[in-house]
Amino acid sequence: MEYLKDGARKLGVKLNSAQLKQFQMYYLELVSWNQRVNLTTITDFKEVQIKHFLDSLSVTIALNHQINDTKIRLVDIGTGAGLPGLPIKIAFPALKLILIEATAKKAAFLDHLKAKLGLNDVEIVVGRAEEIAHEIRYRKQFNIVLSRAVAPLPTLVELALPFCTMNGSFIAQKKGAIDQEIRQADKAINLLGGNLREIKRVNLNEFLDERYLIIIDKTSPTPEQYPRRSGIPAKRPLI
Ligand code: SAH
Repeated sequence: MEYLKDGARKLGVKLNSAQLKQFQMYYLELVSWNQRVNLTTITDFKEVQIKHFLDSLSVTIALNHQINDTKIRLVDIGTGAGLPGLPIKIAFPALKLILIEATAKKAAFLDHLKAKLGLNDVEIVVGRAEEIAHEIRYRKQFNIVLSRAVAPLPTLVELALPFCTMNGSFIAQKKGAIDQEIRQADKAINLLGGNLREIKRVNLNEFLDERYLIIIDKTSPTPEQYPRRSGIPAKRPLI
């Protein structure tokens, strides 16, 4: 686990041997289940450490508040195999994590993994973010909203900001040329009650491409009609 351990240290995240063991188990379960359930195209041990685990932990450089606080509630939308939410939970076990995933088979993997790793305060919700965001137990309930590789930013903002508490933040992971995507998200950010605070570059030589964290704070309430019904935020983005 040297690649993960060294990379995490550069991010200021210390992983002890029990945590590294959890990551190792995560890797083994991922590649094992991947033969039956389509979870990832990345299966090489080194690549998973960097492109999945370390990339997930890179989000923590955007989090100023005490992430290891039991009052922190974090939601990961379209989490797939648990990314980026589960690596963050392993590194910061005190926080409360909710994973949202539309595909039941992937959610079954997450249930299995949660038990295998002995994780507490992890809730797995199967369904579409468009619907779950209207349930009162999830709407406006999270200090931190995360989502990786799910949709372009204008769509993502509509799925994510309804989950955010006032003064909470949505952090999107993006790579490559992001200027146009950010400009296109301007309208959605305003409409949904957000404010683009910062675009942070992830500076780790483990990554050969340019990776960014787009940090959007929730500064005013999201109007009740958002998100629109399933599929609409992607089909007719608020651009
Ligand atoms: N975040 C993971 C998975 C990305 S693939 C990673 O970075 O590896 C996108 C995942 O989002 C898929 O598993 C898909 O089922 C899920 N998804 C897409 N749209 C969704 C929605 N509206 N609500 C919930 N899950 C969604």
